[in-house]
Amino acid sequence: MPFVEPNYRCRVAEPDSPERKSSCLVQAQSEAEARSALERRHYIVYNVKKYDFAAWRRAGAKATAAAQKYRDFKNAADRKAHTFPALWAPLKEALLDLFHRKCAYCDAEFDHVAYGDVDHFRPKGGVSDDPNHPGYWWLAYDPSNYLPSCALCNQGDAKKNRFRSLRSLNARTVVSSAIVAPTCRTCPFDCTTNSPLGRLAT
Ligand SMILES: [Zn+2]
Repeated sequence: MPFVEPNYRCRVAEPDSPERKSSCLVQAQSEAEARSALERRHYIVYNVKKYDFAAWRRAGAKATAAAQKYRDFKNAADRKAHTFPALWAPLKEALLDLFHRKCAYCDAEFDHVAYGDVDHFRPKGGVSDDPNHPGYWWLAYDPSNYLPSCALCNQGDAKKNRFRSLRSLNARTVVSSAIVAPTCRTCPFDCTTNSPLGRLAT
């Protein structure tokens, strides 16, 4: 299942906080279709405009360049000080559409009761249980590394920064074995999986 680039940018708000506007990127056949899909999900839609996803890619490339200092960081505290701009946040609705409005990990429909997260399948800022792994900072802005997740699967004691590399297998992870793909042979960290949204550049 490849990632599909959104082609509309919408300004929206949740009905209980109409003053808190945010951007939402979606894929649709027309402006009317983008608007009605968001209104069905109870968003207040302020405007809908055509969007060239190349603009997002350019912003992502800039943020990736800024994150390159991860290569030189020697410890987790230094890495933690880096802030990744959350360019992935406006992609949540587009990702949920790709996954039939379900969490990529537990297959539950959740967006009528919770906001949910955009999860980095390969964690961007460090890998739990492997303090020598800097995290997959170079995939922080690769949409193929994003998955829609319910809060239970991505927060608390669930996935968070866990990733099933050969060096950091963790029995408590909730990542489904169903999405484990053939071994990636090029990554220096012995990763075992690709994302369901496509083969990641390692
Ligand atoms: Zn879930």
